[in-house]
Amino acid sequence: MDKKCEIVQDLLFGYKDNTLHNESQKLVEEHLKTCENCNKIFQELKEEENNISSEKKEIDYLKKVRKKINKKNKLLIIIGIILTIVVIFNICIFSYYYKQAGKLQVFLEDDITQEQMGEIESKILEIDKNANIKYYTKEDSLNEMKTKIENKELLSGYDSGNNIFPSYYIIETNIKDAKKIEENIINLQGVKKTQGAFNLNPYLFIISECLGK
Ligand SMILES: [Zn+2]
Repeated sequence: MDKKCEIVQDLLFGYKDNTLHNESQKLVEEHLKTCENCNKIFQELKEEENNISSEKKEIDYLKKVRKKINKKNKLLIIIGIILTIVVIFNICIFSYYYKQAGKLQVFLEDDITQEQMGEIESKILEIDKNANIKYYTKEDSLNEMKTKIENKELLSGYDSGNNIFPSYYIIETNIKDAKKIEENIINLQGVKKTQGAFNLNPYLFIISECLGK
């Protein structure tokens, strides 16, 4: 092989990458114009590089696509988890609400008679014969308040003689009947007022329950 060819071929890599000194760059350029063999080697070298870079591009592209898919999957998983939490949260709230909102509290006048109480109870059972009616006396009411409020001193002066708290019923039924019972007994003799959770929005109901406890 020609001595010059040998030198040029040693320099071809540098020439291709444009890292040679000006003199050497020029020398190779001139030689390639006249030497078919070296020119052929140079073309092969370039072609090889093109192949490699296009392969690399392809791999980069695949990596990018995979990254995108991973990102998308992660996002979907996160959305899925959030949705699941929201759904479970709502199921809990609504099932609690429907269980609790079937309750009705009926406060009674202090001078209520046994007869009036009997009337109220039979009216309730007329609407829902399975309703669970619990009666709480004025003493129960006072004691409940004493355990409920933090500053018990406030109630220390109160006893059965001057008890300001009314006796009441707690009626456990279902939402529909609770509403109906309320409508039917609100005007009966001896009923002071009623209080049912069914008029509240479920979320407000839960919040008020949490604050009350
Ligand atoms: Zn040559």
